Amino acid sequence: MSEDEEAIARAELAMHLRRQNVASRATLAALEGVPRSLFLGARHKRLAYQDRAAPIDCGQTISQPTIVAMMTDALELRPDMTVLEIGTGSGYQAAILARIAAHVFTVERYHMLSELAAERLRVLRIDNVSFKVGDGHDGWDEHAPFDRIIMTAAAVAVPEALVSQLAPGGILVAPIGDQGHTQELLKCRLTADGLEGERIADVRFVPLVPGVAGVL
Ligand code: SAH
Repeated sequence: MSEDEEAIARAELAMHLRRQNVASRATLAALEGVPRSLFLGARHKRLAYQDRAAPIDCGQTISQPTIVAMMTDALELRPDMTVLEIGTGSGYQAAILARIAAHVFTVERYHMLSELAAERLRVLRIDNVSFKVGDGHDGWDEHAPFDRIIMTAAAVAVPEALVSQLAPGGILVAPIGDQGHTQELLKCRLTADGLEGERIADVRFVPLVPGVAGVL
């Protein structure tokens, strides 16, 4: 793809997302500010500005732009907030969160994905993201509580540790449901009575897998 073709594809995706009406202008502006092609390998760059998920290394996927917009918007982010992301993957969602929030803490079970994502964000001069290789089921205790938590891998239930690391009144957005099936994308708020959730969409995410990956 030439530079001109890429610029047109990017603008077309931006217009498509605006027409979808799933996110505010501020959220869409954050998406438009991050070049998705940087987050895909050479073989998949042509998919960068299509509204679909795409393969990344380690058998994982970068989410569909509409879903990234919807999840980012559901977090109701403000510039002074800290966010915990479970499932760094390519780093694309983290880059978008970092354009809106004060600081993003992101956890990934593959060393390779975490390192590649950190490198991409350095190239983009995004310096308010901290990376950790670990099991997202445990969250990131040292930096808790978080104003917002986003899971980008599906679990059958919200892990207990994440609930305990969410600030009072905080919002957690997560795909919840069985592997291999459609999951429910939930937006939950932590109230005095516990997590209160609403369903915002049907989605299909890769599973949240226990433990740190042994190789890669
Ligand atoms: N947010 C990513 C998409 C991630 S796909 C992006 O914008 O590209 C889901 C990611 O969750 C995968 O990279 C997968 O390796 C990771 N993952 C799965 N189980 C995990 C766990 N227990 N802890 C941390 N990361 C996990």
